[in-house]
Amino acid sequence: MNTARPRRPAARADFEIAVICALPIEADAVDALFDHHWDDDGAPYDKAGGDPNAYSTGAIGRHNVVLAHMPGMGKASAAAVAANCRASFPNIKLALVVGVCGVVPFRPGGSGGTAETVLGDVIVSDGVVQYDLGRRLPEQFVPKDTLLDTLGRPNTEIRALLAKLRGLRSRKMLQAKMAGYMDVLRGEPELAAAYPGAAQDKLFEATYRHVRDGMSCEECGCDGKLVPRARLEQGDGQPAVHFGLIASGDTVMKSGKDRDDIAREAGVVGFEMESAGVWDIFPCVVIKGACDYADSHKTKAWQRYAAATAAACMKAFLSYWVPSLPEHLLMPYRLATAKPATDRAALPCHYIPLPENRRFVGRKETLDTLKEMLFVRKECRKAAIVGLGGVGKTQVALQLAYWTKKHRPEFSIFWVPALSKATLEQAFTAMARNLPIQSGGDDDDLKVSVRRYLSSEAAGPWLLVVDNADDRDILFGSADMPGGISDYLPESDNGLTLFTTRSREVAVSVTGSDVIELNAMDQPEAAVFLEKSLIQKDMLRDEGATAELLKELTYLPLAISQAAAYINIKQVSLAEYVKLLHGTQQDIVSLMSKEFRDNTRYAGSQNAVATTWLVSFDQIRKSDNAAADLLSFISCIEPKGIPQSLFPDSESTAQLVDAIGTLCSYAFLTRREDSNVFDMHGLVHLATRIWVQREGLTATTGKKAIRHIATVFPSDDYANRNVWREYLPHAFRVLQQSKELDIEERSDLLFWVGQCLTVDGRIKEAARNHPSRLASQHELAGAYRANGQVKEAVALLEQVVAIKAKTLAEDHPSRLASQQWLEYILEAADQDELDYNVSGSH
Ligand SMILES: [Zn+2]
Repeated sequence: MNTARPRRPAARADFEIAVICALPIEADAVDALFDHHWDDDGAPYDKAGGDPNAYSTGAIGRHNVVLAHMPGMGKASAAAVAANCRASFPNIKLALVVGVCGVVPFRPGGSGGTAETVLGDVIVSDGVVQYDLGRRLPEQFVPKDTLLDTLGRPNTEIRALLAKLRGLRSRKMLQAKMAGYMDVLRGEPELAAAYPGAAQDKLFEATYRHVRDGMSCEECGCDGKLVPRARLEQGDGQPAVHFGLIASGDTVMKSGKDRDDIAREAGVVGFEMESAGVWDIFPCVVIKGACDYADSHKTKAWQRYAAATAAACMKAFLSYWVPSLPEHLLMPYRLATAKPATDRAALPCHYIPLPENRRFVGRKETLDTLKEMLFVRKECRKAAIVGLGGVGKTQVALQLAYWTKKHRPEFSIFWVPALSKATLEQAFTAMARNLPIQSGGDDDDLKVSVRRYLSSEAAGPWLLVVDNADDRDILFGSADMPGGISDYLPESDNGLTLFTTRSREVAVSVTGSDVIELNAMDQPEAAVFLEKSLIQKDMLRDEGATAELLKELTYLPLAISQAAAYINIKQVSLAEYVKLLHGTQQDIVSLMSKEFRDNTRYAGSQNAVATTWLVSFDQIRKSDNAAADLLSFISCIEPKGIPQSLFPDSESTAQLVDAIGTLCSYAFLTRREDSNVFDMHGLVHLATRIWVQREGLTATTGKKAIRHIATVFPSDDYANRNVWREYLPHAFRVLQQSKELDIEERSDLLFWVGQCLTVDGRIKEAARNHPSRLASQHELAGAYRANGQVKEAVALLEQVVAIKAKTLAEDHPSRLASQQWLEYILEAADQDELDYNVSGSH
């Protein structure tokens, strides 16, 4: 391994690794493992204006590292420190949050089915879950929604390394290296990094409370039953490394019971308070030593040892991390490659490959916010517009670019489509022609020269639009293809960068918090846009048809553009187009799949509504298989009102939450406020079905879905009524679409759906005769209002129940009868074509 010390960085921009510590004892242990301190020789690196952080800089192994000291513990403090650190050190590629944490003593896994964590072990995060204890009362059961969110996964590069280190052999090597660094730390008496001894490692039963706050267990006489620990009995004093999810909260976890509840529910292995603050700002790995068991028995006895094991693990971890920038990019900017500032350099230049869009309407609020952020308050130099594919992000960026050209003439303007490395290359070549730079020849050199020039003062003020930054791998590189577009993006106090992206995850990684969400247009905006897009404006006189059409197209600009293109060419009326939209699924698919010419979009890009999202689906399939599987599952059920409990289990709850997070990040799923119920945009849902069909997986996916729903669908016990009312629309949908499939589980599902409908039907009957039961009737109506299909089905069922009452004895629900009713209902529903409404709303 190359252990040569890295060269002293020329500027803060050349640091790629940050270490963030909350407590001075944590920072002391990290500091003691620096191989060299740059602060000791040469001029200090200073900080960006307004940055209050204190830093130490130096080298660890072959990396230049900046250590940020936090003024206190907690998420808010960590977020502020990280944000300021990013301002001073703009090229940080990896932040390590290093220190102490509370751990979960037992979790599933290991030999014998249980893996043990003892004090001094180190947790390395492969994800962070936020939880909030502030929202609940003491002694209450922890409700499901206590877990606010997983904060997404680390980037590909980090994930690849974690995957490697998790392997048995790598883990052993990591632990061996740690042992070596522990020797170094123990040699430093002031760090007091010695192992406190197995006798000090006490785990009380989860329900045993600490006797008195503010005193140690010995002082106040905690004498609860201790839980036996196999590892301590074996006398294994070496700290182990565990990989897993870290729970990050706003308060210290002080309850063994809450600890175990959350651990069971979310699969977390440790608790701390800082990483949620850093996670949003930097690509991040949390490395924390176990100093207590996240229960009420807090002790300081383990803090220094745990801080030392964490620091040792950090140094061992860094020895596996490969610097992501090519060597020549790590060298100081050599402005010699750019000619000295000349008259020519002072002239702003423009490269915008798309023409100004004369049809552009509205979006005033978004544009005003962007201008305010970038040009007035000047508080951010990078911003991102995030939103669903087809919602008009590129057009907003384009509008801002042309506005800047007109109103800020001193600005140079550049535009880079981030569709692939080839489009970046193309744009940089075009830009280079207009810039006063010399290039050594090859393409990489050219890109580096452009980056260097724009990062220099000589370039003057500029605005760079990085459009369609949807694919993480293209942007940041991947394990297979290291190095991404972001390596070539310039940084300058005079430069503004605006990203457009479908992925919230990408938006947050490139800008931190400066993200603007772009939603579909409102009705008036959409109407004006339609008017500008139509050749025959008088068509809009049919106000009813106009309103209906816009509603069906969900006010999505791309869908409106596409409809207008079709109407302009085929010369059909708005009402006729609406009628086509109400046709069969095949009609809609063919209508929505038609590519059309649009000179405000890139040539060759997927212009049709139905296909524009397929690219994103493929990206998801590549990067998050669980999320892709979830998409396929949703293609089989109703797009609206999907309860989280209906989703198929992934390997773990955390993985499912993660997959949901990915789909929400792309705005493919939206969470109904404060609930565990999700909706999918109707047109996106249509696209998922096309996608599954193109993959040739329609039958497989359908079978899987019906098997799963058959497994989770409840029995007709009245106590389950809320569950079955939530599940019914989805059960109907899969049943209806799987009529050709011969699988056993389908009959089971038919049976229980029939039984549940019977129970509901009877209550409705009963309510009719007993006014006192009107309440339950209302309840029922409310539950069904969302879906015309089920309403229809229940109406039909009532008729059947009435007929049945005449022919069969009551309380005689036979399996066969239920199935027959339901098949009958499904047939009838099919004839009514209730199913295939484009917008998904009835
Ligand atoms: Zn105690």
